[in-house]
Amino acid sequence: MRAAGTPAMGPDASAIVVGSGIVGLATACRLAETGFRVTVLDAGGGPAEGSSRGNAGQLLFDRVSAMGSAGFLRSLPASMADRSQGLDIWGLGLPGRWPWSIRFLSQCTGAAWRRNTAAMLELAHLSKASFHGFIERHPLAFDWRCPGKLIVHPTEEALAAAARTAEFQARFGGRHVVLSSEEARAREPALQGGTRPIAGAIHLPDAEVGDCRAFCEGLAGILRERLGGRLQFGTRVERVRHAGGRAVAVETSQGEIGADLFVIATGRAAGTLLPRGAVVRKPIVGVRGVSLTYPAGDVAPDLSVTDAGGKFVVMRMGDRVRVSGFASFTERLEVAPEEIALLRAKAQALMPEAARYDEAPEAWAGLRPQTPDDLPMIGRAGFENLFVNAGHGSLGWTFAFGSAERLLDAAGLAQ
Ligand SMILES: Cc1cc2nc3c(=O)[nH]c(=O)nc-3n(C[C@H](O)[C@H](O)[C@H](O)COP(=O)(O)OP(=O)(O)OC[C@H]3O[C@@H](n4cnc5c(N)ncnc54)[C@H](O)[C@@H]3O)c2cc1C
Repeated sequence: MRAAGTPAMGPDASAIVVGSGIVGLATACRLAETGFRVTVLDAGGGPAEGSSRGNAGQLLFDRVSAMGSAGFLRSLPASMADRSQGLDIWGLGLPGRWPWSIRFLSQCTGAAWRRNTAAMLELAHLSKASFHGFIERHPLAFDWRCPGKLIVHPTEEALAAAARTAEFQARFGGRHVVLSSEEARAREPALQGGTRPIAGAIHLPDAEVGDCRAFCEGLAGILRERLGGRLQFGTRVERVRHAGGRAVAVETSQGEIGADLFVIATGRAAGTLLPRGAVVRKPIVGVRGVSLTYPAGDVAPDLSVTDAGGKFVVMRMGDRVRVSGFASFTERLEVAPEEIALLRAKAQALMPEAARYDEAPEAWAGLRPQTPDDLPMIGRAGFENLFVNAGHGSLGWTFAFGSAERLLDAAGLAQ
């Protein structure tokens, strides 16, 4: 099965993937499918204990957009003044983050946004094909649906700007329709009776949703039971040991483990394990987000809905409804009661009966592993047989399978 050009490895070659989030698990499964004996190592106690656990569950394969743009800078004063948006950029001023912040600022131009968004769309389309191929080969239960998505905008001006963005994204494929306020409410009855301003919406008929944590657990099962892989938890990787220009082993809290090929897929922690000279090295910061998961209410949404003005998402996963939002440059993982109250109030104002808002939600905070240009680091990292796949920002699930394909390609393993 292995393509010619794979770095000096026999038919029974072994691979270590460090990280059992969505990116590490997708990579491990695809490597195992090409014939590697794969071991996944993770410091945590099980799959998806990092950023992949409670995310917003969006698989947005054809309307992704880079965070850095001229518009982002222009909107900062208003976004910061409106506390309910949960945007907090003060952490970017910390000296340790200056390298990231300076590079991010250089991406906040129209030209950089178009370049980065085009590259993200290319990766996302690749991901869509790879993801669908994988779940066809290995059916999995993860509350997956393809209901489509509405992105509602509070003003005509914001809607017109979003329509221009969607036209740019459409050059790369996918469908969208611009809807009036009445059409949006008719399309998603859970919006009826809501009090948040809606001037109109962009409807994405092909958007998909699911439970990323359940998907990761499913991937771990497939790796173990069908693809002959192993998962070893409670194993922190401290360092990659190399000799003669090749990585030979990882030094871990459980001792040294050798392999023929190594992949670092540790999300925002990737930088600490990469050798200094790694070509694809970029700074990564954690952008904190929060999700609240409630039992579904009497009028739970069918479509996933993003409120662009309030910067939050509401979606249904089986008999639960998840509300996600906030973007702050802090590493705090506890969720404060005021944050729960704020996010709940916004969701309730958008869709009054979508969830059992009176019940205590499952509250979660995670850190999006964000690079300055929103593009993940994928490729060879200093040694012939050491690779990195990390820094997927707010789209790690969407990008996971495309990134795995890119990694196979970089390793000369593409089929
Ligand atoms: C609120 C929120 C909403 C989001 N919504 C979406 C969405 O709707 N759609 C989407 O596509 N993306 C979304 N994302 C982004 C997505 O969740 C992330 O991009 C993705 O989870 C990153 O996956 P990962 O595997 O790179 O990292 P992680 O899931 O963080 O996994 C990294 C793993 O590496 C392990 N690790 C770290 N260091 C070591 C070490 N030294 N040794 C051993 N193990 C180590 C950690 O224990 C962890 O298990 C969202 C993120 C957040 C926070």
